[in-house]
Parts: sequence; C-alpha cells; structure tokens
Amino acid sequence: MNALAATNRNFKLAARLLGLDSKLEKSLLIPFREIKVECTIPKDDGTLASFVGFRVQHDNARGPMKGGIRYHPEVDPDEVNALAQLMTWKTAVANIPYGGAKGGIGCDPGELSISELERLTRVFTQKIHDLIGVHTDVPAPDMGTNPQTMAWILDEYSKFHGYSPAVVTGKPTDLGGSLGRDAATGRGVLFATEALLHEHGKSIAGQRFVIQGFGNVGSWAAQLISENGGKVVAASDITGAVKNSKGLDIPSLLKHVKENRGVKGFHGGDPIDPSSILVEDCDILIPAALGGVINRENANDIKAKFIIEAANHPTDPEADEILAKKGVVILPDIFANSGGVTVSYFEWVQVFMYISANPFLLQSNLITFKGFMWDEEKVNHELKTYMTKGFKDVKAMCKTHNCDLRMGAFTLGVNRVARATVLRGWEA
Ligand code: GLU
Repeated sequence: MNALAATNRNFKLAARLLGLDSKLEKSLLIPFREIKVECTIPKDDGTLASFVGFRVQHDNARGPMKGGIRYHPEVDPDEVNALAQLMTWKTAVANIPYGGAKGGIGCDPGELSISELERLTRVFTQKIHDLIGVHTDVPAPDMGTNPQTMAWILDEYSKFHGYSPAVVTGKPTDLGGSLGRDAATGRGVLFATEALLHEHGKSIAGQRFVIQGFGNVGSWAAQLISENGGKVVAASDITGAVKNSKGLDIPSLLKHVKENRGVKGFHGGDPIDPSSILVEDCDILIPAALGGVINRENANDIKAKFIIEAANHPTDPEADEILAKKGVVILPDIFANSGGVTVSYFEWVQVFMYISANPFLLQSNLITFKGFMWDEEKVNHELKTYMTKGFKDVKAMCKTHNCDLRMGAFTLGVNRVARATVLRGWEA
C-alpha cells in the first residue's frame, strides 16, 4: 500500500473509533496547502540540472506547521503528503503547540557536491520563502538534510524577511540551534523503548536489538541503547549489513561508518544480506530508514517481539495485521520518533527567549546565543518528561478505545487536533 493510502487508512480507523463527524473528518484529511516547485541550478561543471521540490502543509489548528525537509531520490508528492499528515498527528501526540508539514526534493544528495547542495537549498528556499515563516511553517532536517542545510535556509530566508533564527530548527548551535537536537530522535527512541519495556517488566539491558538504517536516527539509537546495556546484534544501511550475535561494538562501528561512509566492510561482525536484516533473530527490531519496509512479504518471518518505529510509516497496514496475529507489539512512529520534533520545539522556545531578552541584538544581527540557552542535561531531562507522558497518554487511549498502540497514538493525535479545530470554529 502506498504511504498516503496507508496513512489515510490509519486516520480513518481512528476517526471511526473517535466517532468523528464526517465533515470534520474530511476537513482534517485534506491538506491545508500543497506546493510543488521547480528548482534548477548550475552544476559545478557548468551544465544545468533541474529538480522538483515539495512542501505540503497539512494542518495548523494547534499551531505553526512543523516538519522536516527530505532530500532523497524517492521523494514524491504522495509520500510528502503522508509524511506531512503524520507530522500533524505526531506533534499532537507529543502535545507540543504545532501543526504538521513536510517537504522534500527529489534528488540524491550523495551525488551532489557541497556547493551544488547549497545552490539547490537556496533556490528551493527562494521558491517557498513566502509560504514558510516563524509563526506559519517551520522546517527542520529529515533524511538527506542536516544542520548545514538549515543554516542555508535560514540565511536565504533572512535575505527576504530579515534575520529570522526561529524559521528553522535543527540549526547548528552557533546559529541558535539547541544542544541535544542532533541526538534527539534517537534519544526519544530510547526513552520510548524504555517506557514500553517497563510496562512489560523488562529493561533495555540484555535485550537483543536489530537496527535497520544507520543514519542520524539509527546511529544515535544504537549508541544510546548500547550505553544502556542493550546488545545491537545486527545493523544495516544502504552500503550493507553486519551481524554479530555477541553484540556489535557500537563505538567501533560508529568510527568505521564515519571513516568509510557506511557499515560495509566493518570487521567486528559478519556481513549479511541487507534485505534480510528485518527478519534477523532479535528481541527488538528498530526500523530507522525508509517507509513501507515491513510488509506482507516479510511480516510473517519477523522474529522480534517488539518493533519500535524510528522511521516514519515503516509498517504497511497489511503487515500490521499479520504482526498483531503473531503477538508482536509495535510502538508506532508518531510516538516513537517524536523526540526530534519535541527538541525542535525546545529549540524554537529557546530562540524566542533569547530574542525577547535581546531585541536590539536581533536587529543588528549580533546574536551570539550565549545566554538563555538550556544545557544538554535540561534538554534531555525535558525530552524524557515529554516521552514518558506521551506513552502514558497513548496507553490511556488504548484503554478507552480497546485498541493497539498504533490506534492509541492515532486517536490521541487526531482527537487533540479535532478539538482544536472545533474550538477555533468553522466561520469562513
Ligand atoms: N524530520 C523529523 C520528523 O520526521 C523532525 C521534524 C521537526 O523537527 O520539525 O519528525
């Protein structure tokens, strides 16, 4: 099932459980605005290259729309739509005052030089600058983008609107980014997993994990899990996969990945076929890469007892049904990976604290971001508070609606957005 069909299906199931009015259901489903832009840049060799960029703004009932920008060859309008909608429910589950959006450019960032990436990011920002904004739509990193990408967006946007450090999150800390933002999604995955295991009378220590995807989210999750006594027995990325049933040495693997741009060739384990990573023997499976990877082709062969969705929509609805029958517990994406956007919110708040204390510095671009920024301990502590509360709220909805964790999270998110929509009123 394609990403949008799967997301719509989950939304409709939740709307039914909540008994939502059909007009409200329809209005919540249709995106607020969809933008598609052509981005042509000169390549380093002087030839021209054209790319298509998207920004889908799904809903703003609870606050400014929020979500990452993805650079990946498979970015397409349906996927961006699905991801934008998931952001609406995710920010509501996290209970942070945002709506949902997502953007992307269909490109392979690995094939572009750093200056080509900068030109592409600036052209994309020129095309969307009047539709994003500090109080309207706040982008952040996603797959294929990073703090440097956010710095270029900030700079380009500021040429049109004046210096605006709150227009993006996930910025470098030198430009007002938050400590702990880089690790936040992975750390949120750790806290979410701890909350789930606690409920089952277990802890991270001694559990065997398999992680698909070793980018920002997967590698931080691996590091934090191993620091907490978990055993990562297999890991993969686009270059390959590696397995060690005694547990991979994560610090050495991280060093290898940094030096070799991938897990391939790591000697601390045996190479395995990356396509079999999801069905490797383990207690806990963490998909931390692309969507739709767990589907009816492989669901029956999955050995894990728990799946923690660090990626967005990794599990197809057909696989959901198969896994439920097998008794596999799935912690859904809109809760499990909400640590990133939660710390994005902390970043945004810190920038406002700084600006309101120093308005003249903002006018003169003299921001140094020394005061009013939280230390990393505070960021991580607040993140844990949000994740723990989020899990409790999801479980309460599971009890009310007698449903699994995915529907618990969807009913929680959809209900909060529906309530905000009704409160704000329907007058045109
Ligand atoms: N791209 C991340 C996500 O999918 C973070 C979004 C944000 O921080 O706005 O949740």
